[in-house]
Amino acid sequence: MEKDSLKDKLYKYMDAGFPIIYLNTFEEDKVDIIVSEISSGKEVYEWNETYGYMDFQTKTPMMEDCDLEHMLDQLKSFDLLDRKIILLKDITAYLEDPRIVSKIKGIARMINQGADATVIIISTTLVIPKELEKFITILEMDYLNTDEIKTIIRTFISDNGLPEVKSALVDELALAFKGLTEFEINNLLALSYADDGVLTRKDLRLIFDQKQQMIKKAGILEMIPLKETIDDIGGLENLKDWFVRKAKVYKNMNKAKAYGVDMPKGVLIAGVPGCGKSLNAKAAANLFEVPLLRLDMGRLMGKYVGESEGNLRKAIALAEAISPCVLWIDELEKAFAGIGGGGSGAEVTTRLFGNFLTWMQEKDSPTFVVATANDITKLPPELLRKGRFDEIFYVGLPNDQEREKIFQIHIAKRRPQDLKNIKISELVKNSSGFSGADIEGVVKDAVESAFADDKASIQTNDVLDAIKNTHSLSEIMKDALEKMTKEYETRKFKNASR
Ligand code: ADP
Repeated sequence: MEKDSLKDKLYKYMDAGFPIIYLNTFEEDKVDIIVSEISSGKEVYEWNETYGYMDFQTKTPMMEDCDLEHMLDQLKSFDLLDRKIILLKDITAYLEDPRIVSKIKGIARMINQGADATVIIISTTLVIPKELEKFITILEMDYLNTDEIKTIIRTFISDNGLPEVKSALVDELALAFKGLTEFEINNLLALSYADDGVLTRKDLRLIFDQKQQMIKKAGILEMIPLKETIDDIGGLENLKDWFVRKAKVYKNMNKAKAYGVDMPKGVLIAGVPGCGKSLNAKAAANLFEVPLLRLDMGRLMGKYVGESEGNLRKAIALAEAISPCVLWIDELEKAFAGIGGGGSGAEVTTRLFGNFLTWMQEKDSPTFVVATANDITKLPPELLRKGRFDEIFYVGLPNDQEREKIFQIHIAKRRPQDLKNIKISELVKNSSGFSGADIEGVVKDAVESAFADDKASIQTNDVLDAIKNTHSLSEIMKDALEKMTKEYETRKFKNASR
């Protein structure tokens, strides 16, 4: 992932003449510091709701009772604008006013035509008028590192005259706060302290809940509840064994590192739909005893310059902040299809993909990536090279032994008492070409119809009837499956099944 700090990026964008930079943040104070560090001799004019038009450096009003429109009028010629930074705060409500929008657009145009100036909008919410879309670049605040978070906690304790807190608790709090902004941390500290006047380990719960809220709000990562375990997966023994071995490393990371073992990166599981790829992602998180975060690639794609990359960066930073965790990237091929093609969409995808690859390559955090894909023929070859994932597995249709296990698992889930009466071997014989999801569907149907017919239990025939009524996956997509299997064999991916 990019190592540039917000300051570096802001500087680069200004230097490159990007007209409007939109900083999506609560941390105005920090932005002020950064802006004064990078203004390099330019004059900085600020507008905010409280003081109107003011000089940023001296914090004195430039003009009494100057509204935003009036201020923008002061900058409407090339000369007036040249060598200025215009810092606009609290202006989201004004961005619905067409007159204001058109004035900002006028300024952006002059910058595009060569005026050495930058408009910086600082806001806690993202409001982008259509007319300004192509002029705006969005930037996000950097995440705080552990030391910075500890300083915030210590400052809060001393500012509020709280009793000393053990350094072990500060460490734990700092870990729990990872991924939050300074503003959010201070809010949570105030909340934790308000209920009983002290900071204790009990407050970690509150912080954790809050973090989950935050992930929900960001809307790009989803925290998946962990129900499935490795025992819910029928077959795929090679893949399961591999996960068990990785879990041993992952759960003993310090020891493993000291021994010389590399930090596990992740796995790509490709293959036939409905055969347990997602199931494995979930079971892995359970096995590793860490939270499971699902990255929605579709929601990642934004329409503004920098938005998709910003979203990916945010998702990755959040996952790293929450780590140790499993980051599940579902339907990877959807995200990275169209790379290298024409059009601006393809350009964004290619850049995103580059960022993702760099991150995978350099990743040093305990964020274990499980990427799943139905169709690897759509994936760019760079992704499949060594060094990105620890291993690439392919999952095919379950063989006889695997179908036997899958039938057992799904019958045992719903009607454990009937398991002994059912001839699983008959079911296996009649279900060749069925996926795991097909088998689950068959068992569900059999149980439901036995119930509807007031039967005391389900019998082999009930399941066989359901099999007859099902069009299996291989029936539906025979050719595609054959092509896929060949592809995996030629690429020498590891077979998930034994
Ligand atoms: P995909 O490979 O498309 O990610 P999933 O893992 O989502 O497929 O499988 C869908 C459902 O089918 C699972 O929730 C599970 O109930 C069932 N299933 C698929 N494969 C297996 C399997 N190997 N063992 C047990 N159940 C399976």
